[in-house]
Amino acid sequence: MEYVNSLIELVGNTPLLRLTRITGEVKPLVLAKVEYLNPGGSVKDRIAVKMIEAAEREGKLKPGGVIVEPTSGNTGVGLAIVAQSKGYHCIFVCPDKVSEDKRNVLRAYGAEVVVCPTAVEPEHPDSYYSVSDRLVRETPGAWKPDQYSNPNNPASHYESTGPEIWKQTEGRITHFVAGIGTGGTISGTGRYLREVSGGRVKIIGADPVGSVYSGGSGRPYLVEGVGEDFWPDNYDRQICDQVIEISDSDSFATTRRLAGEEALLVGGSSGMAAAAAVRLAEQVDDPEAVIVVLLPDSGRGYLTKIFSDDWLARYGFAPRPDAAVRTVGDV
Ligand code: PMP
Repeated sequence: MEYVNSLIELVGNTPLLRLTRITGEVKPLVLAKVEYLNPGGSVKDRIAVKMIEAAEREGKLKPGGVIVEPTSGNTGVGLAIVAQSKGYHCIFVCPDKVSEDKRNVLRAYGAEVVVCPTAVEPEHPDSYYSVSDRLVRETPGAWKPDQYSNPNNPASHYESTGPEIWKQTEGRITHFVAGIGTGGTISGTGRYLREVSGGRVKIIGADPVGSVYSGGSGRPYLVEGVGEDFWPDNYDRQICDQVIEISDSDSFATTRRLAGEEALLVGGSSGMAAAAAVRLAEQVDDPEAVIVVLLPDSGRGYLTKIFSDDWLARYGFAPRPDAAVRTVGDV
């Protein structure tokens, strides 16, 4: 019989899928690393396993312990599924702007969700940051993974994502493209690929216009999960050979094309990374080049945003650049 004993064993080993439609006629082979096929639906399952197992080994997380993290999204799901299989309780702190659907996903996995007001300064006692710090201090057996500074976040990618890509491409990868949030994915995967290839593989960051990684001031943008207004410890500032800036409009248009033309229902940060990969592919005049772009999560969490024409229109974006405009009653 072929089966696994724990969902944790299903984390990683995600496939590479060749992109053909959104790339148009480009010389390089463009391959997508499809991370929504992880059991929790995102790349963050990888860091959850590694951070929790390291905390157990280091004695920071003991039987019956409580995981407290300010997160509302993919990291929460990853931590919740690993915690459930190992018998830990999770408390996630999230701002009130996070949708009820996202909170319910975390609750469905057995986590407790504490909601904080968005409209307060970080120093305010009710802020997302203050509440999570207080919960860590006051909860017996509490441990905070802190994905922004925990070295096991990039380490998980150094040990899994990087070697998988190297093996899957038989060492023929020439460029790795990924968005930057905490910096864990690009720093860990990038470091492995740079080392194993003797510096041959180029590491390309993709970043929303306005974010610090591409020289912005931290001004707001709509794509979720990537870009920052500060420099996290987990981002290795030496890792990127190049950072490509992508507008919300390009990120969302590419996200819609990935679903509509490549049948990949993925999130906005995947659209952003894919847009950067296409832009890179257009500049690389080499049929031997192999570009791997990491697509972090599924589009399921964005159905009422990126996949809603009304939502896009409200923010001034065209629903689908290729879609004909049709009104009911037209002849
Ligand atoms: N995309 C999404 C949807 C994410 O949640 C994250 C993590 N914040 C990223 C991309 C970026 O990954 P990393 O934190 O490893 O830089």
